[in-house]
Formats: sequence, structure tokens, C-alpha cells
Amino acid sequence: MYNSGMNTAFTTTQRERLLELGADDAAVDAVFAGVGDRDAAFRAAEKRLVAENRGKIAALLREKHMPETALVIRDLETWLTDVEGFTKVTTPTIISTESLDRMTLTEDEPLRDQIFYVGKNRCLRPMLAPNLYIVMRELGRITKSSVRIFETGSCFRRESRGARHLSEFTMLNCVEYGVAYDPDGADAERTRVDDSADGRTRSDGAGQMDRLEALAHAAMRAVGIEDFTLEREPSVVYGETIDIVADGVELASGSYGPCALDANWGVFAPWVGIGFGVERTAMVRGGHKTVSRVGGSLAFVDGVPLNI
Ligand code: ATP
Ligand code: MG
Repeated sequence: MYNSGMNTAFTTTQRERLLELGADDAAVDAVFAGVGDRDAAFRAAEKRLVAENRGKIAALLREKHMPETALVIRDLETWLTDVEGFTKVTTPTIISTESLDRMTLTEDEPLRDQIFYVGKNRCLRPMLAPNLYIVMRELGRITKSSVRIFETGSCFRRESRGARHLSEFTMLNCVEYGVAYDPDGADAERTRVDDSADGRTRSDGAGQMDRLEALAHAAMRAVGIEDFTLEREPSVVYGETIDIVADGVELASGSYGPCALDANWGVFAPWVGIGFGVERTAMVRGGHKTVSRVGGSLAFVDGVPLNI
């Protein structure tokens, strides 16, 4: 043999198998003196990783019982109900296409092309906001006071993008409605009515952004993610949004009103809301490389491949 360097890499099939089993990037990039060494290393690594994954399945079935996605939901729901006083609601997964128009998801909006239609006039919801607009408005009307609600449920978007997008995912969306947000932080429940002709409550959004930031920090504390950033973005629909980003992954988006959409829903009081991607949060918290490992799947259970 003239070729004495370390230059034999794993084959594509070997690499894919090791990555499926959860090997780290450095391990799959290893090089060997020859094919014999390489194949022996592959067999050893595969055997070790299969044993590790079988151990994880055993621990899940015997002790853990709840996969990471379910634990993220539990952590967020417990925080919302027990600490923040939010109430859980459940609304239909199938919505009218008319409600997409009311969200101003018109024909030229990219999300409009991602809709799964059910017959002609209905579709699978791509977000929870349309239903929550209605429920928060009605509860506000009945109670005549502030309303804090959340829903955890499936959302559907035709997605072609890889590691961070599922066609079917779980959103947890909390909304707080009818609070007069004081930018100075004091006396938050005080009603602030501006001098507009209709006498509706208005505010400039600074108080809402403060509240969104506080909720975002508390949510990340609840799920135990310490390393994250809050990124403000201008938005055509909402005016301004705030994203929670961890490990370069958008975990959640927050928005607030009054905004241009509100009138379509008969909503006039201030509100704030955050939609959390449950699988994205579980992916980051569990250290997984792809969201499909922790989403609804027949190939993975709690991030562990069944092909072992
Ligand atoms: P992205 O820009 O990453 O596609 P988005 O801004 O369109 O996401 P939002 O409408 O803000 O998503 O939805 C709220 C949250 O739901 C996101 O922050 C993300 O965590 C999650 N999410 C959105 N789309 C998907 C998807 N296809 N698969 C998994 N999670 C998603
Ligand atoms: Mg977003």
C-alpha cells in the first residue's frame, strides 16, 4: 500500500446511520488509515450508540414516561396557570378560510400558500391566533375585566424547509387582554383612555413590549433555558413582534395590540400574546439537531430512533 495517510472517511450510508443514532459531528468526521480500520470503527460506534439508545427507551418506559415535548407543555402550562393566572381553552383545529382573510393572510402572503385546505371553505389552522381572538373578545365581554387565556394545540403548515420546520407542530399560545399597559410599569390595571373620538383604550406599545419581555423571561425560566436572546422585528401585520431565540433557533414570537388586525375581530382593548413552538423548545432543551426527532413521528420516540 502506497497510501499510508489517515484519509479514509465514513461512507455516506455509515455517516447517516451514525447521525440517526445521535453521534456528534466530530465523531462522524473521523478519518482512518484504511477501509478495514474504518469499518471496524463504524461497527464499534454503531454498537455503542444502539446500546445507548436502547437505554434511553428503557428509561422512558420505566421511569420518565413523558417525552420532552410533553414536559415542555407541562412546564409552560404549570407556569401559566399556577404563577401567571392564565386559563386553558381548547378550540377547533379545523377553521374557516374566512378567518385567514381576517388575519389578513391574503393571497400574496407566503403563509397563504402553506395552508392545508379541508374542502372549499375550511382549512387546518396554521396558527392559534384566529380562534384566540374570538375567545378572548367574548370572555372580555362577559367578565368586563382583563382576560388571560392560553391554548396548546396542533397547527399545520405546508413546509418544505428542513431541520426546524414540521408540517404538523404544536403551538402554545398565551394571550392577555384588556389590561392598560403602563410603560412606566406602575398601576398596570389602570384603564388609560386616550382622547380619540370613540373613547377606546389606546397605548403606544411600550408597556406591551415590557410585559412581553417579562413573560418571555419567565417562560424561559419555566422551561429551564438560560441562554436566549429577545429580538424585536418590524411586522406588517402586527406592527412589531419580539422573537425568543436560543441556539440560533426561533422558539417563540410575541406580538401585541392595539394593531391593525384588531378591528377585524371586534377587539379594541390592548393585548399581548406569545406563541411558543413546543417541538422547537423541546429540540433545543433536549440538545437535538432536528425538530422531527421530537415531533409527532413513527420513526422516533422522545428523540430516540426506533430503528435500533
Ligand atoms: P419561522 O420563521 O421559523 O418559519 P414563524 O415566524 O413563521 O417561524 P410563527 O408564526 O411566529 O412562526 O409561530 C410561532 C412559533 O411556532 C415559532 O416561533 C416556532 O417556534 C413555531 N413554528 C412555526 N412554524 C413551525 C413549523 N413549521 N414547525 C415547527 N415549529 C414551528
Ligand atoms: Mg415568528
